[in-house]
Amino acid sequence: MQETFRPLASPDKRVELFAIGNELLVGQVLDTNTHWLIRSLTALGAHVRRAHILRDEYDEIADGVGAAIRRAPRLILTTGGLGPTDDDLTFRAIARMLDLPLVEDPIALDMVRRRYEYLASIRPNFSAELNEARRKMALFPQGGQPLANPSGAAPGLALDINSQTTLVCLPGVPAEMKDIFNTSLQPVLERTIGAGSYIEHTLVLDRGDESRIAALLQQIQAAHPTVYVKSRGQTLEDGAHLTVVLSHAGSDPRFIHQELTATEQEAIHALSSLGYAVLRVIES
Ligand code: AMP
Ligand code: MG
Repeated sequence: MQETFRPLASPDKRVELFAIGNELLVGQVLDTNTHWLIRSLTALGAHVRRAHILRDEYDEIADGVGAAIRRAPRLILTTGGLGPTDDDLTFRAIARMLDLPLVEDPIALDMVRRRYEYLASIRPNFSAELNEARRKMALFPQGGQPLANPSGAAPGLALDINSQTTLVCLPGVPAEMKDIFNTSLQPVLERTIGAGSYIEHTLVLDRGDESRIAALLQQIQAAHPTVYVKSRGQTLEDGAHLTVVLSHAGSDPRFIHQELTATEQEAIHALSSLGYAVLRVIES
């Protein structure tokens, strides 16, 4: 069905994501960052094209992110590998790949310093000294802009690779990643992705069996290529109600609403001719 889904988002809203961390690839930690970022970016009208998980290794990061740069999305976003320990090497790998020197960024160093001073002020016997491991978090690929981290020590990074693509690196700790996304990253998102909307209409049908409506949904998808038409399958044994989700991203909320409403009316009509009733429509 997806073959005929053509998101309206212009090439300038294309995004690629990378979750970086060995712990993700042995199953110790579930990659929840990617899911959260996909939902948050989609809500802004962005078009997330790919998401990948990479090991904390120079070659893996250079291969993965290098290939993304050649595909020229508007934004590449990585999470993970910004901490003080030696295995966190995202900045070093990016600098090496782009042939940029690593430099101690004074603004980033000040962010790190202030974080440890704050921690020393609230914890007994906690030293604020900027040791080498802590200073490492301010070693930036030259030209990178530090992104303030309201809830952790490691600043994020925004780096314009060229006039088309901006690379953003965020820490792996989910709370820190989300806080940076919601605060210091916002100006970068505004100038890259811009404003946009994403709306979903979920149709709850009175019975199951996805296979009976497959051809019908394909026709509706073909007639409305910018709307993503997705039936949510379940096991037949459950006998549960089938849902069909119609969704649309873009920059004009009125156009999105019109397209979704037209598609919804057509779907309800076509489904009823097959004997299905739509019990309710949930808009979100
Ligand atoms: P790092 O920034 O690589 O030091 O990551 C710090 C911690 O954040 C890791 O030890 C994980 O527990 C967690 N983490 C890293 N990446 C992810 C991810 N993609 N999803 C959820 N948690 C993550
Ligand atoms: Mg890590």
